[in-house]
Amino acid sequence: MIFIDTHTHLYLEEFEPDRHQMVERAIEAGVKYMMLPNIDGTSVHPMLELCKTFPDNIMPMIGLHPTSVKENYMDQLAAVECWLLDRKFYGIGECGMDFYWDKTFVNEQEIAFRHQIDLAKAYKLPLIVHIRESFNEVIKILKDVNKPELQGIFHCFSGSVEQARQAIDLGFSLGLGGVTTFKNNKMQETLKHIDLKHLVLETDAPFLAPMPHRGKRNEPAYIPLIAEKIAEIKGISVEEVAQATTENAMKLFRIANHETMEPASGGQSPAKHN
Ligand SMILES: [Zn+2]
Repeated sequence: MIFIDTHTHLYLEEFEPDRHQMVERAIEAGVKYMMLPNIDGTSVHPMLELCKTFPDNIMPMIGLHPTSVKENYMDQLAAVECWLLDRKFYGIGECGMDFYWDKTFVNEQEIAFRHQIDLAKAYKLPLIVHIRESFNEVIKILKDVNKPELQGIFHCFSGSVEQARQAIDLGFSLGLGGVTTFKNNKMQETLKHIDLKHLVLETDAPFLAPMPHRGKRNEPAYIPLIAEKIAEIKGISVEEVAQATTENAMKLFRIANHETMEPASGGQSPAKHN
């Protein structure tokens, strides 16, 4: 079984003491690819450094997180554009709207979000959307600007069936993480009505660890715990969950599957993604 953690912040200081062992643990647990969403100008270099250390397993994205939208957001967005011209990234994000922590820059958050939607379209990259107490606002913006070519993930999705359908109708996948494993959460009902083809897995590490690690530091090696919970809710095997969510993520991020693409004749492998 191969898993993909589509959203993990492995460059944060919480992983300072054991970052490399933690990545090895994830690979050992079958989590072959880890996708890193960016936060802001301070996280780009540590993120790219880690991608350089594990080029076959860890892939970067670029964007500006809504809680990092402050006075200098235009400079931050200009820096994102420079990075896009400079090297390959696998997605735009994370971006979106967060009304939970601070509402000072609500208007700027919307401008920054719209700007990053334009970048996702221009570069044909998936958009990684962060929503906190802003679901209706985000849906409104996406409806406003959406074109069939825009794809992405509603990161850390934990909403109702109706909200799930709204996201799916806009061409987005649902990123399921640790919250799915918490007792009495909405997803246990929602998931029964949503097809596997719309789901991808994520940890959002170091945050939101799944049961039984709730409240502790999260890490990508816990991805199978989320898959197991989805399998239990839907009454299917973990293998089915792994296969579908991995395929969905590989398609979305355009990651070539080296194993299945390896030519049988023993010829040259296809070009690597890095
Ligand atoms: Zn995140």
